[in-house]
Amino acid sequence: MPAKTPASKPLSFASTDAHSAWAIYLAQIDRVVPYLGHLAKWVDSLKRPKRSLIVDVPVEMDDGSIRHFEGFRVQHNLSRGPGKGGIRFHPDVSLDEVMALSAWMTIKTAAVGLPFGGAKGGVRVDPSELSTKELERLTRRYTSEIGIIIGPQRDIPAPDVNTNGQIMAWMMDTYSMNTGHTSTGVVTGKPVHLGGSLGRVKATGRGVYVTGCEAAKRIGLELKGARVAVQGLGNVGGTAAELFASAGSLVVAVQDHTGTVVAPEGFDIVEALAIVKREGGIASYAKKKGAQLIDNEKFWDVETDILIPAALEGQINAERAKRIKAKLVLEGANGPTLPEADDVFEKRDILVVPDVICNAGGVTVSYFEWVQDFNSFYWTEDEINVRLDKIMRDALEHIWTTASQHKIGLRTATFAVACERILMARAERGIYP
Ligand code: GLU
Repeated sequence: MPAKTPASKPLSFASTDAHSAWAIYLAQIDRVVPYLGHLAKWVDSLKRPKRSLIVDVPVEMDDGSIRHFEGFRVQHNLSRGPGKGGIRFHPDVSLDEVMALSAWMTIKTAAVGLPFGGAKGGVRVDPSELSTKELERLTRRYTSEIGIIIGPQRDIPAPDVNTNGQIMAWMMDTYSMNTGHTSTGVVTGKPVHLGGSLGRVKATGRGVYVTGCEAAKRIGLELKGARVAVQGLGNVGGTAAELFASAGSLVVAVQDHTGTVVAPEGFDIVEALAIVKREGGIASYAKKKGAQLIDNEKFWDVETDILIPAALEGQINAERAKRIKAKLVLEGANGPTLPEADDVFEKRDILVVPDVICNAGGVTVSYFEWVQDFNSFYWTEDEINVRLDKIMRDALEHIWTTASQHKIGLRTATFAVACERILMARAERGIYP
């Protein structure tokens, strides 16, 4: 017997914090290994991003001073196709976080069967401190810096936290200026008249709703009259809340970065969203309507049937999971639940539809946008929504069956389905040279 080769060493540049986003992702991967059969020998390739780029982003501010920002683009895995994943502008962005977010994109694109790998990018910046012109300069310089690894066939960014269609338009323009021709397919989530897709803005929230309906049906939860609590009223949480309300559910609690408001009889969510959009947060709504802001921590104790964390990662630890009253948790955000909290949910029989399937509607319509750009032929919103709903339903059905077969939770089942697809491609392609 030859001596056993020592295992690959863990990455030197990952955070050592056991609750870091990358650590959470690694724990999720470890849980799926027993279900990978002969493909398990390839699993270490999912524990190290293929390519991680750190860039300096100098910006001339409006007052003439120069500020430097840290930027990242990580391509976690390209076995099944070009990199795909959003760009986040947030003061807490770090390499560790971007690595995890890129890895969750690898799992997500594989789980819904899109021909992409996983990537993610970010700039460590609070965009609310910048003027529009400063934001544009930051976006353009960042795009130029990561221009050496992105491209319509290589890696295709999209919006994420604090980025939007305007920022995608600047990215597309910058990349196009640098390559000398207009390249609509280099980013998705663009404005519709610049090669964007109808339905893209609402797609992530719509996917949360569609997978939520499917899951609710399977556990016998009636949507009409169901109580819904939402954390994060951005693009994802706002759209999902609106869709649940239109199905007759009551949105009974809302939390965003400005505070927490409960309304046991249900919010008029359309009005609340309009105020939030205009004035910046749920605190303004509370002020206007004479509603009480409650202690943020109490959000997790609210009597609800469906909980939608749609803000940032790491929100639900074991302690909060023990207090949550919902029967169904729909992860609109990426990485909101710690592995220890998953165990609590499982014990308490609370069903979690994990991020890597629940919020995959966004990247699915990004895929439609990319395909439309290549063909210069655009689909109607109906066509988009019909195809989106079908992909989400089929993916959930497949994952549900896998979960039942192995008697495992939906997260591990989603990872099992996705990892099999990724590692099969990895093994078939082989190691070069
Ligand atoms: N940022 C979104 C996500 O986390 C969308 C990514 C994309 O469309 O490429 O899934």
